[in-house]
Amino acid sequence: MKGFNFHSVKNVKEAKKLASGKSAFLAGGMTTIPAMKLRLASYSDIIDIKNIKDLSGIKVSSKSLKIGATTKHAEVAASKEVKKAISSLAHLADGIGDPQVRNRGTIGGSIANNDPAADYPAACLALNAIIHTSDRKIVSDKFFKGMFETALKKGELIQAVEFQVPDKSCYVKFPNPASRYAIVGVYVAKYKKEVNVAVTGVESAVFRCKKIESALKSNFSSSAIDGVKISSSGFNSDIHASSDYRAHLIKVLAKKAVAGCK
Ligand SMILES: Cc1cc2nc3c(=O)[nH]c(=O)nc-3n(C[C@H](O)[C@H](O)[C@H](O)COP(=O)(O)OP(=O)(O)OC[C@H]3O[C@@H](n4cnc5c(N)ncnc54)[C@H](O)[C@@H]3O)c2cc1C
Repeated sequence: MKGFNFHSVKNVKEAKKLASGKSAFLAGGMTTIPAMKLRLASYSDIIDIKNIKDLSGIKVSSKSLKIGATTKHAEVAASKEVKKAISSLAHLADGIGDPQVRNRGTIGGSIANNDPAADYPAACLALNAIIHTSDRKIVSDKFFKGMFETALKKGELIQAVEFQVPDKSCYVKFPNPASRYAIVGVYVAKYKKEVNVAVTGVESAVFRCKKIESALKSNFSSSAIDGVKISSSGFNSDIHASSDYRAHLIKVLAKKAVAGCK
């Protein structure tokens, strides 16, 4: 690990002031610290945001669920408010990594990192999330840009993620048996006027599967997905799953998610 300056900040203003093109925010450190130790990344300044009180916590209203950026996966998984408002989101958080990762990793760190196989980006797209940052509000359709790439500008801090409460929803993933990252994960959310189907683990970044969405819009049932054709062109292919297998899994998991919607 290369040398760096360490700052522990107490508010967003202080964090923003210290941020530069060569700095990184430290939330759970589950990605940043291994990347630094392996010398895959190096920074002049590490800005620890864990002590900013306003960044943590869960707020529920009838229409939305707002989760502070430094809220840990284990807190989301255990929250009675999350379970009541969007139980699929608590289930998703409970399936991330292992207990160590869930007790350190944060929702803000997860979506800022935008790993192509991460779970929360699928929740953001399916649940029409709004990303509240230090500078603006970003709709999730415009947030996830590509592999490990987001709409965040240098030094822009995620403060909270606000999910729109659906009528019903379900997230199903086929996890990598070692890391629990999604080989494929499908999040289905049904609203009065729309059905959102978000897929992770399959391309360089999370995406909405419009073909399944339109099949479900006219007939919200697992059988409606039977006739949908998913081309594997451009899909990830690796030692865990070929692109064709991933295409197959999208339909299998989408059917399971529709059946499991509550
Ligand atoms: C063994 C292992 C297994 C895992 N399994 C899964 C899994 O099954 N599913 C899954 O989805 N994820 C998984 N993860 C990822 C994990 O859940 C974390 O969410 C992720 O590593 C990043 O979160 P963090 O809080 O640790 O962020 P950090 O490592 O602290 O930061 C990551 C990046 O985000 C930036 N950042 C952090 N917070 C903010 C903020 N508020 N605003 C702007 N930028 C910010 C940092 O500058 C850095 O670039 C796994 C990780 C490990 C190590």
